[in-house]
Amino acid sequence: MKVNTFKPFGDAAGASPDGHHACGMVRNMKYDYLVVGAGLYGATFARTAADAGKKVLVIDRRNHIAGNVYTEKVKGINVHKYGAHIFHTNNRKVWDFVNRFADFNRFTNTPVANYKGEIYSLPFNMFTFNKMWGVVTPEEASAVINKQKEEAGITEPKNLEEQAISLVGSDIYEKLIKGYTEKQWGRKCTDLPAFIIKRLPVRLNYDNNYFNARYQGIPTGGYTKMVSNMLDGIEVRTGVDFLKEKDSYEGLAETVVYTGALDEYFGYSLGNLQYRSVRFDEEVLDTDNFQGNAAVNYTDAETPWTRIIEHKWFEFGKDEEGRDIPGTVISREYSSEWHPGDEPYYPVNDEKNNALADNYKALAQKEENVIFGGRLGEYRYYDMDAVIDAALKCAENVINSR
Ligand code: UDP
Repeated sequence: MKVNTFKPFGDAAGASPDGHHACGMVRNMKYDYLVVGAGLYGATFARTAADAGKKVLVIDRRNHIAGNVYTEKVKGINVHKYGAHIFHTNNRKVWDFVNRFADFNRFTNTPVANYKGEIYSLPFNMFTFNKMWGVVTPEEASAVINKQKEEAGITEPKNLEEQAISLVGSDIYEKLIKGYTEKQWGRKCTDLPAFIIKRLPVRLNYDNNYFNARYQGIPTGGYTKMVSNMLDGIEVRTGVDFLKEKDSYEGLAETVVYTGALDEYFGYSLGNLQYRSVRFDEEVLDTDNFQGNAAVNYTDAETPWTRIIEHKWFEFGKDEEGRDIPGTVISREYSSEWHPGDEPYYPVNDEKNNALADNYKALAQKEENVIFGGRLGEYRYYDMDAVIDAALKCAENVINSR
């Protein structure tokens, strides 16, 4: 279940299940929806509700909107402050929706892997296989992968390591997957779920496009501008921590749309869900071209960062010829286990955590008039387009059910 079932106040009986009459409250409520979190889920829900004529208040505990897609201009470059976000989708409805609020450039994500100074193409494709084994044809590449898979004796992959070897063989697993994954997740590949590696395409052609998506790009002017356009005309208050000011805020609206962390909402009463956090070490450099690509992944175990992002390459006209401001901005990403007070980025969707999340979701179901949504609210490793799709569907459902 993605969201809490919607249970409107002021039904035929006019009373809430705890016996309190709700009608008086409804009349005094200033807003139909209080959206907690101004990220993509919150902004999409808020826009859809506002377009349907609903009164919406959006709050966020950070001092800015846009959640983790927040971008900020540094030296004329839109820097992705909470990690690189490349918009990609096969969902026409979602693509049309975001294009209402931004023009997208035709950026295609083609990250490269740096393994101890050896450079490989990503995702795994014929360029990668050629560099790794000297093979030239798809047939030769499949033969090597199948041989390595057979040698490993894997029939039904049970974890990320087995899944990776059965997709691309043991050489690529050892050089391009193991070190990177164990740094990113802080766990052995044998202890991680197989689905994580299935996010990456494996191609027997010379296509370096990281995503199998019909539509892809970066919003011109940055994600913050896009989210600001989504929230146009909607009341937004930043620097407001809902969980600390619940008493004064929840009475303002009939329905709360909560996009913060699921376990935090319940005061971690059943225990902490695990997340991975990321630290970004941002540097402004005098050089105009640091690494010649937006993303370089460091796939060995020893390099302490997982990847380096050079933000200018997400945009156009920022190369040597077209640049208006000299210099470049890079961010090194360091992955760590989340501790209370850190920013949660990635839910660790292993069996143990998913089981705990299910228990929290059962509590969420019982919360009257609260909808839980988004990567943190649903504890799901969601991509941006899936978040928007879920928010659109949820908003349409609850608005139509009234
Ligand atoms: N991955 C890898 N090597 C790479 C890039 C990705 O092994 O060079 C694995 C890693 O386990 C990662 C997963 O693929 O968690 C998904 O990568 P993706 O790029 O989708 O992660 P995100 O962009 O969400 O951090």
